[in-house]
Amino acid sequence: MYSRFKALQEFGETELKQLQNSKVAVIGLGATGSAIAEHLARHGVDLVLFDRDYLEENDVYSSNIYTPEECEKSLPKAVAAENYLEKFTEVESFNESLNPETVEKLEDVDLMVDGTDNMETRFLLNEFSKKTDTPWIYTSAIAEKGYSMFLDSKCFNCVFEQVSPGALDTCESAGILRETSTTAASISAEKAVKYLTDKPPKETLDTTDGQSFEIESHGCEVCEYKNFDTLNSKKKVSSVCGENKFQIEKDFGEEAYESVKEAGNIIAENEYLVRAKLDRREIVFFHSGRAIVEAEDRGHAESIISETIGV
Ligand SMILES: [Zn+2]
Repeated sequence: MYSRFKALQEFGETELKQLQNSKVAVIGLGATGSAIAEHLARHGVDLVLFDRDYLEENDVYSSNIYTPEECEKSLPKAVAAENYLEKFTEVESFNESLNPETVEKLEDVDLMVDGTDNMETRFLLNEFSKKTDTPWIYTSAIAEKGYSMFLDSKCFNCVFEQVSPGALDTCESAGILRETSTTAASISAEKAVKYLTDKPPKETLDTTDGQSFEIESHGCEVCEYKNFDTLNSKKKVSSVCGENKFQIEKDFGEEAYESVKEAGNIIAENEYLVRAKLDRREIVFFHSGRAIVEAEDRGHAESIISETIGV
């Protein structure tokens, strides 16, 4: 199965064993995250997967591992990704957000890889990385530009602390060329393979068009003074993928699903969720106790929910 890998000059049986004894977390299973997860799974790397979103029609275009049928059914990305990737390796998946509580589930991984399109989650990962001495890889792809950065001794907050979450374009606003996201994913996956086989990659910001930038860690609140405000805040990231979608975590009860089904046009329903359209806005209730709502802001999302199900 791995003859092509073992024929490489720099890799062999030892490196293959190293990869197969490794565990990597992939956070966010959209265009970039799903591609990174597939690369690592086919090397036999064990995976811990996090994603709170569900599949939509555009995921057929963006990702290689999801089928049109799964997207039609609006399966949670974490569930669909595990269904496919468990053919190659051990997979543990979480159909929920990465937040200051759930991040504890990453305590025993060797490496964390970001596929989120979400700055708040990246700041959280950076703090967790500094707290636990676990390196991570930043990946992003917007329009026709993709970026990858391995971070071990360097610090994401030092580079991006001036950038406020939401100030950047997202795939929703600027689009994404699928080849750009898979190229960025390949660069990050290669860095992961090298790190896991004792060939640590350089801590540079690399782009899909072949540029490489040195980054400076000047010593900030996070890396120098170990002030982990995001980790300690217990704040839950509210927006999803930078879109006008907000997550409300609460156990709404079975009646809520009935109310949604009565009030709106059902787009999809499965054992994990019900997805409906209400006045041109999408609303999704997960049986695990949360909802994702298309809205202007968090308050608006809460009022849409209370109007719909009366809580
Ligand atoms: Zn720093």
